[in-house]
Amino acid sequence: MWRYRAAIPLTRNSNTVSFDEGFTPLVPLDFGGRSAFLKQDHLFPTGSFKDRGASVLVSKVRELGIKKVVIDSSGNAGAAVAAYCARAGIMCEVFVPAGTLPGKLASIRAYGAKLRLVPGTREDAARAARRSAVRTYYASHYWNPFFFQGTKTFAYEVCEQLGWRAPDVIVLPCGNGTLVLGADLGFRDLRAAKVIKRIPKIIAVQAANCAPIYQSFRSGRRLVPRIKPRPTLAEGIAIAEPLRGRQIIDAVGKTGGSFLTVSEKEIGDAGRDMGRRGFFIEPTAAATIAGLIRYLERAPKKETIVSVITGHGLKAPEKSGPASDSRTGDGARLRVR
Ligand SMILES: *Cc1c(COP(=O)(O)O)cnc(C)c1O
Repeated sequence: MWRYRAAIPLTRNSNTVSFDEGFTPLVPLDFGGRSAFLKQDHLFPTGSFKDRGASVLVSKVRELGIKKVVIDSSGNAGAAVAAYCARAGIMCEVFVPAGTLPGKLASIRAYGAKLRLVPGTREDAARAARRSAVRTYYASHYWNPFFFQGTKTFAYEVCEQLGWRAPDVIVLPCGNGTLVLGADLGFRDLRAAKVIKRIPKIIAVQAANCAPIYQSFRSGRRLVPRIKPRPTLAEGIAIAEPLRGRQIIDAVGKTGGSFLTVSEKEIGDAGRDMGRRGFFIEPTAAATIAGLIRYLERAPKKETIVSVITGHGLKAPEKSGPASDSRTGDGARLRVR
């Protein structure tokens, strides 16, 4: 992804923190007679697209001479920032909900980060991190703008891989919107540089059990409602109080796109279907594929459609395998308390 160095706001090359990651393969895949391109962002060093943002954010942290950071996460962003901090020799403290998947916790520990298990919800973990961030740099993937300067490379890569053309539609996950907003930023860069003419329609996917932004978009309001989230297999997008909710609604709306939700059954089915085709993906990633399948049912024939595999199945083997089913209770029982 650092092939786009000129577009990344870092002052000195020597501050770059990288594993030579990115430019993930884009493969066409058939869904019931309709084809879409899938970007394999589960093949990043820490197993999710969050490495895009972490590489740029931690590079900036190094450039600022900061020696210690804190972050809160449902797992993958914490793992990504912890890995890049390890590479840069920066101390990292990660706040996660106590129920976070064991695979995600193991990798955060392996990277040598200080792991803080916070009882309660994802929002409780965020509040604990913000208290700690009063004294320490907050390397948050959804607050810190430098994270989005990394996730925007998703759009550059997609266009380059299509022969410097933009797709008509991209189907992306939506929790905190770091990929939605990053991709939008990247496509707008390319339009400003006259590389592409039009920004693709963004279809943003939420889990039906936790869909505050979908609800607000549907009601035509920009205010994100307070919801009572139900548990979902797609814990990585289960964000009940998205900080940038309004920004996400505006960005998606401007592209002519929209939001859709997927059920627990659709998420489970999509994950199993992908496994049978040779893609071992985590349930949160399966939610986006379920959204893609939903979109393809009514998509105009001529559209070029791109979606993404956001996270590797090895992150959550206990929930990604054939033994798991679409009932939410199954996943909940396997969680570490
Ligand atoms: C973070 C994440 C998402 C959702 O990204 P947001 O920035 O919260 O919208 C989707 N899938 C996986 C695997 C993730 O780690």
